[in-house]
Amino acid sequence: MMVQNPDVVIVGAGAAGIGAGLALTRLGVSHAILEAKQRVGGRAYSDTSSLGHLWDHGAHWLHSGDVNVMRFMAEKLKHKFRPENPAVSSFRSFIGGQWKVSEFATDYVWTKLEEIALAGRNGLDVAAESILDRGHAMYPLLRHWCQLIYSKDPSELSTGDAGSYSDSHVNLPVEDGYGALVARLSRGLPIRLGVKVKAIEITGSGVRVETNSGAITAKACILAVPSRIMENYRIAIKPGLPDVLQQAFADVTMGYGEKVALGFDRKVFEGFEIPFADVFDPVAPETRPLNFELHPFGRPIAVAHVGGSVARELATAGPETMKGFAIDTLVKAFGADIRQRIAATATTGWTMDEHIGGAYSGAAPGKAEARKVFSEPVHDRLFLAGEHVHRHYMATVHGAYETGLDAAHKAAAVLGFPARPKDPLWLPS
Ligand SMILES: Cc1cc2nc3c(=O)[nH]c(=O)nc-3n(C[C@H](O)[C@H](O)[C@H](O)COP(=O)(O)OP(=O)(O)OC[C@H]3O[C@@H](n4cnc5c(N)ncnc54)[C@H](O)[C@@H]3O)c2cc1C
Repeated sequence: MMVQNPDVVIVGAGAAGIGAGLALTRLGVSHAILEAKQRVGGRAYSDTSSLGHLWDHGAHWLHSGDVNVMRFMAEKLKHKFRPENPAVSSFRSFIGGQWKVSEFATDYVWTKLEEIALAGRNGLDVAAESILDRGHAMYPLLRHWCQLIYSKDPSELSTGDAGSYSDSHVNLPVEDGYGALVARLSRGLPIRLGVKVKAIEITGSGVRVETNSGAITAKACILAVPSRIMENYRIAIKPGLPDVLQQAFADVTMGYGEKVALGFDRKVFEGFEIPFADVFDPVAPETRPLNFELHPFGRPIAVAHVGGSVARELATAGPETMKGFAIDTLVKAFGADIRQRIAATATTGWTMDEHIGGAYSGAAPGKAEARKVFSEPVHDRLFLAGEHVHRHYMATVHGAYETGLDAAHKAAAVLGFPARPKDPLWLPS
């Protein structure tokens, strides 16, 4: 049931907003969650209709899956995920016209990716590109993987930010859908869909939140929208965000990431039996590398991934260009006959989505410390949550969820509710 004048208004029903809502429910703090879209989950969204088989437009992996709170939520809800890394030590790729098997531990791309994070952990905060050999034959593939992991090109990627990310290297895909998991967590929460927040005024007694369907007042607000919304001033904060915070939104911007999903009339990669493939021709690097996930969970589909400037460019060009790029690249590795087997196609649209505007956050080179101000309350009335707020699990669902819990506990404390230890796995019975 929707409370008219709740203690707290939460803006955004992604993982962060849902985490905040669950924590406030547990703490007995009345609240309302306002979501601009007609669905919950934000960047966690499972699609079951476009291909006739489930695939996730956004989050798909339980990163750091051995310590990830969402993994334990999935276990609690019996929501299926793969309990082991699908590719543990080696992987196959189609490089220069041939299939080859590589070991992660010795592979050029994966060794260099590790060096980027290591440089950051050793205190260096520069553009990743400056510590890489751009002339190396495999550099385009390395750049592709930087774009996929960080959603930024190496020229825009801070080694310091990369080094701050806490990675246990256990990555577990969610069979029943990561978006579906986040949606399950939202059940029973007081969420109003289709309500777009336009402005938040911090008043003497609390906040006044202006939306496309009227205003709502509360004692505090948890702002759980993507950082791009704030970077681009799409929600006005009155009398204004502190300069240091607005600067942080300029220093920690969202990169880009998109997927192209292809459905086949039957399983087409029999005999390859590999969960992933990079397709790349180092002799003609202008053809651009592309990573595919093949037959995830045995489904007759493939999902291609692009990131950074390539994702932005393709998304701007539109779905047909995105699909054409993915199919032409697939044909290089698997032959022209595969075109006849394609029964359905779909693309994501995060870049052009007015309520999202990109993939996930990354600090600019030299600005790895900028995120820390996101976790500071504004006038003890406005609390930020979202993947961009997390110092070590940024760019992830579990990171976003944890910041929601954190913001809820901070807001409850300021409003005078008795302090209770956090319970990240709490769900209403
Ligand atoms: C292609 C892609 C792949 C990814 N892969 C993974 C992965 O494998 N594993 C992983 O952990 N993470 C992954 N991520 C990142 C992960 O999806 C995000 O970090 C996480 O979902 C962010 O949650 P959030 O709550 O911070 O923001 P969001 O999920 O973006 O939620 C914010 C909500 O705010 C709403 N909103 C915006 N403006 C307004 C407004 N004015 N009024 C009201 N509501 C508004 C939005 O509609 C949205 O629902 C991926 C992301 C992308 C794009």
